[in-house]
Amino acid sequence: MRLVVLDRAALRFAAAALGAVLATSLAGPGRQNAGDPVAGTPGSQRASVFRAAATNKAAVALTFDDGPDPLYTPRILDVLDRYQARATFFVLGTQAEAHPELLRAIVQRGHEVGTHGYHHTNLTRLKPEVVAADLKRADDLIAAAVGSRPRDLRPPYGFVSPTVLAEAGKLGYRIILWTDEHDPRDWTRPAAAEIARRSLQRTEKGMILLLHDSGGNREQTVKALPLILERLRDQGYQVVTVDELLADTAGGDDQGEHALHKNSVSQQ
Ligand SMILES: [Zn+2]
Repeated sequence: MRLVVLDRAALRFAAAALGAVLATSLAGPGRQNAGDPVAGTPGSQRASVFRAAATNKAAVALTFDDGPDPLYTPRILDVLDRYQARATFFVLGTQAEAHPELLRAIVQRGHEVGTHGYHHTNLTRLKPEVVAADLKRADDLIAAAVGSRPRDLRPPYGFVSPTVLAEAGKLGYRIILWTDEHDPRDWTRPAAAEIARRSLQRTEKGMILLLHDSGGNREQTVKALPLILERLRDQGYQVVTVDELLADTAGGDDQGEHALHKNSVSQQ
């Protein structure tokens, strides 16, 4: 089920079936000076939001939510190594607290650690100070584990509100969603081949793919990964971190926002 209407003044939300994803609308990020590649600088108003990057390079980003997970994350790291792919892991604070060594492994092997917040909670239902506390708690744990704070945030369920944008902006995050057309919904546990098929229905430069490395049985996701990476390799795509993907974005934020709108489910 698809949803959402964009409205610059008011954000409207709706959820996909089963509490899945989506809804957003983003009044644009705070306007940056021309050439300023930085999305939301700490203390600035709203965080910028990306569903894709406007890049001319044949590159895509692979992202994993809800981990790290002692059962699946190491296996995923091995597959990524095999294909020389770099990914972004939007880790949960609770998981980071339990497995800081996995965060270090992720970074040491060339991947990006982003934050998925501390509790896996719908941030749009919380007061600003509670949103800030949740994000900060995860932030501190990640920084303690890997020595630097995450730059990118994926809010649980992809739910965004003016409060979330404001609080994320104060902490200097970019908000990274994903490209809807390629959402395999691997958390519903379809077969590996189906996860791969849904992910790559229409491969595009700058797309952001969403998978999960924790939160349930992820056998099929682990099995789908080589299928996805092989196909991307065959098609000449490089698999890079979100940070790298956005760094390649011509013209910085405005282009990123353009890509976002281009790929939005709908807009006014
Ligand atoms: Zn999640």
